[in-house]
Amino acid sequence: MSLLSRLILRVTGWGWVRSIFTRRFGRRVAMRFVAGETLDDAVAATRALNAQGFTVSLDHLGEHVTTTDEAIGARDDYLACIEAIRAEHLDANVSVKLSQLGMGLDDDLAAASLEALAVAAAGAGTTVTVDMEESAVTGLTIDLYERVQRRYRNLGLALQAYLRRTPADLERVMALGGHIRLCKGAYDEPGDVALESKAEVNEAFDRLAAVLMANQDVKPAIASHDEERIDRVAGTASARRGPFEFQMLYGVRGKFQAELVAAGHPLRVYVPYGDSWYPYLTRRIAERPSNVWFFARALLGR
Ligand SMILES: Cc1cc2nc3c(=O)[nH]c(=O)nc-3n(C[C@H](O)[C@H](O)[C@H](O)COP(=O)(O)OP(=O)(O)OC[C@H]3O[C@@H](n4cnc5c(N)ncnc54)[C@H](O)[C@@H]3O)c2cc1C
Repeated sequence: MSLLSRLILRVTGWGWVRSIFTRRFGRRVAMRFVAGETLDDAVAATRALNAQGFTVSLDHLGEHVTTTDEAIGARDDYLACIEAIRAEHLDANVSVKLSQLGMGLDDDLAAASLEALAVAAAGAGTTVTVDMEESAVTGLTIDLYERVQRRYRNLGLALQAYLRRTPADLERVMALGGHIRLCKGAYDEPGDVALESKAEVNEAFDRLAAVLMANQDVKPAIASHDEERIDRVAGTASARRGPFEFQMLYGVRGKFQAELVAAGHPLRVYVPYGDSWYPYLTRRIAERPSNVWFFARALLGR
């Protein structure tokens, strides 16, 4: 991660900066990357994307809850989302952060809630992907994921190419099947935990993607907007017997997304919704520091 990206994540993490952005003009900027604040907004966005040939993963925004009531509320919001997928016949699954379900606060509650989502998703004919958060919770996330996946088998997990531990984690989670999302990683991590240069992260991504694509017992989900990474994977796709997909974020490289689908590639769009958009937005800004201009333009009222 570049120094500028790190700086953006640190500054946007300060309480007073968050308070100004969320109270004043941040919402307008966020809506470039977020489908809206309600489940109805998310359903409408999913319908539109499905009609254009994309599948969807719905993310009800939120992370690091501080009370069990909030954790239970997050589980119920996800259950409502899965019910909407079923009732509206959407071609979508859900993505969830375990810290939103209470991981770190009450791990048994988080595991029980993930189980409830796995059961509901199975009933709706869909799946649940567990997002990967900062490295302090990687081990715990994998432990809780394994606990539920071992029993229900309709979960998937995100792994981050930038973490030094990921090659071992990948071997471990591939043993449980499911879908595995490979992304580069979006958090500010120290050098002893994560690779630091772009070149090293890209090389790790290519290596891990090749391992995933060679495994016929899992469904690889290659989550990147990086053309070179995608071209390499696309080049190996014909050797795969099982399914795989590309994944990209709502509001990022829309034209490129459409081109991939037009070329016949399966592409799932990650669609966040809800009012807790601030931490998600800061990661999107940090990934591409030129996005800071969206903030600046919103501030100037343009
Ligand atoms: C579907 C999906 C799920 C993800 N889930 C997780 C997760 O669970 N945990 C996690 O840590 N990270 C997650 N990420 C984020 C990921 O780790 C990266 O931070 C992010 O995707 C940027 O990396 P990149 O592979 O697109 O490559 P980059 O080299 O960062 O970007 C390649 C090109 O894509 C464009 N681009 C990338 N990001 C942006 C942006 N924000 N705004 C505008 N243009 C952009 C730019 O043109 C850039 O040059 C996810 C990403 C995707 C696509």
